[in-house]
Amino acid sequence: MSKPLFLETQLIRGSQHGNQTSVVDPITLSTTFLRGEDGHFVSDGDIYSRASNPNRTSLESKLAILEKGDKALAFASGQAATNAVFLALGANSHIILPNDIYYGTRVLIDNVLADFQISYSICDFTDINQIEKTIQANTKLIWIESPSNPSLKISDIAEIAKIASKNKILSVCDNTWASPFFTQPLSLGIDIVMHSSTKYLGGHSDILGGALIWKNTLDTRIAAKLVDIQKLGGSVPSPFDCWLLSRSLSTFCLRMPQHAQNAMILATFLETHTAIEKVYYPGLESHPGHEIAKKQMLNGFGGMISVLIKGDEQIAIKVASKLQIFRNATSLGGVESLVDHRKTAEGEHSTTKPNLLRISVGIENVNDLINDFKQALDK
Ligand SMILES: *Cc1c(COP(=O)(O)O)cnc(C)c1O
Repeated sequence: MSKPLFLETQLIRGSQHGNQTSVVDPITLSTTFLRGEDGHFVSDGDIYSRASNPNRTSLESKLAILEKGDKALAFASGQAATNAVFLALGANSHIILPNDIYYGTRVLIDNVLADFQISYSICDFTDINQIEKTIQANTKLIWIESPSNPSLKISDIAEIAKIASKNKILSVCDNTWASPFFTQPLSLGIDIVMHSSTKYLGGHSDILGGALIWKNTLDTRIAAKLVDIQKLGGSVPSPFDCWLLSRSLSTFCLRMPQHAQNAMILATFLETHTAIEKVYYPGLESHPGHEIAKKQMLNGFGGMISVLIKGDEQIAIKVASKLQIFRNATSLGGVESLVDHRKTAEGEHSTTKPNLLRISVGIENVNDLINDFKQALDK
C-alpha cells in the first residue's frame, strides 16, 4: 500500500502477524517453537514464549503505533511496567514524583525498592520551579502523571520534559488516565510512556496489563535494560491477554471520544449541583490546569472526574452506594461507569480527602448517568 494508513485503520489492520489464512489473529498458546532441519527456528524469531510470542509481538506493534513510538514492551500489569522502569535506574537512584499520583507507584518504592536504595522526593508539579529545586546529584528520573490520580492535577508535560533533558534526567509519563487519544507524551519530549493497559486501552475491565513505549532516541543502555527486565524478569502478559488487548484496541478510537463527551456533560452538571463541594475535571474552565490542558490535550479532556461531596466521609460513601448505574468498584477506563471512594480504596497510605469520589465515566447514554447522580444526591 502506498499511502500511510490512518491510526484507526492501523489499529485494525496494521499489526497482524504473517503467514496466516484467518482474518483474526490466532492465539498462539505454545510456549516453545520448532527448529527446522538446519537448526534454525521456523517461525519469525520466536524461540520461547517468555522471550517472545506472536500475540505479544502483534500487540506491541499496535502499542508503539498508538503512542507514536518506535518500540513497545507489554507487561503483565501496569505495576510490572512501572517496576521495570525503577529497576532499570539501578541502586542509589533518586526519583522525583508528583504529590498527586497513583498510590501504588509510591508504595512500590516504599515497600520494595527502598531496600535497594531507591529513594524519592515529592513535589507539586503544577509549580515547575519546585521540580528544579528538588533535583539532587543522584536524581535519575522525573515521573509525570497528568491528569493525576485522583485529583486530576495537570502538569505541563513539555516544560517538565525540557527540565529533565536539560539536567540529563530520564522523563517518564504515566499516560494511563489521558490515554494516547488525548495526550501524546513522546511528541511533547518525554522519554518513555508508561501505561496500565488495564484501563482505557483494555476498555472493558477484563484484562490486566501494562506497557512501556519509547522512541529510538532513548538512551540505548536504558532501552536494553528494559528489554532484559521484561524478558528475563519475565512479568509478561499471556498470549490470551495480548490477543484480548489487541482486540480492544480495534475500538479504542471509537470509545475514547464518547468517554470524554459524557464526562464533559456530567462534570458540567455536577458543578451546578448544591450537594457537590467541588468538581475536578480539566475540561471545566474552573479547573486551575484548564489552560495547560487545552494546550497539551488533544480531542478532549478524558473520561475521569473526581468530586468532593458536601459533608464527611460517611456521606460520600453513602452517595457512592446509592448510585445504581455507576457500579461501586475501583479501577477505571471501562465502557461501564464506576464510582470509587478513593480514601478507603487506597487504605493506610492514602493522602486523599475523605469526601472525594472518583468517577470513571463510561460510554452509556449520558442522560442515564446524570439521572443516576440526581437520584443519589437527592437522597
Ligand atoms: C491502575 C493504574 C496503575 C497500575 O496499573 P495496574 O495495571 O493495576 O498494575 C498505574 N497508574 C495509574 C494512573 C493507574 O490508574
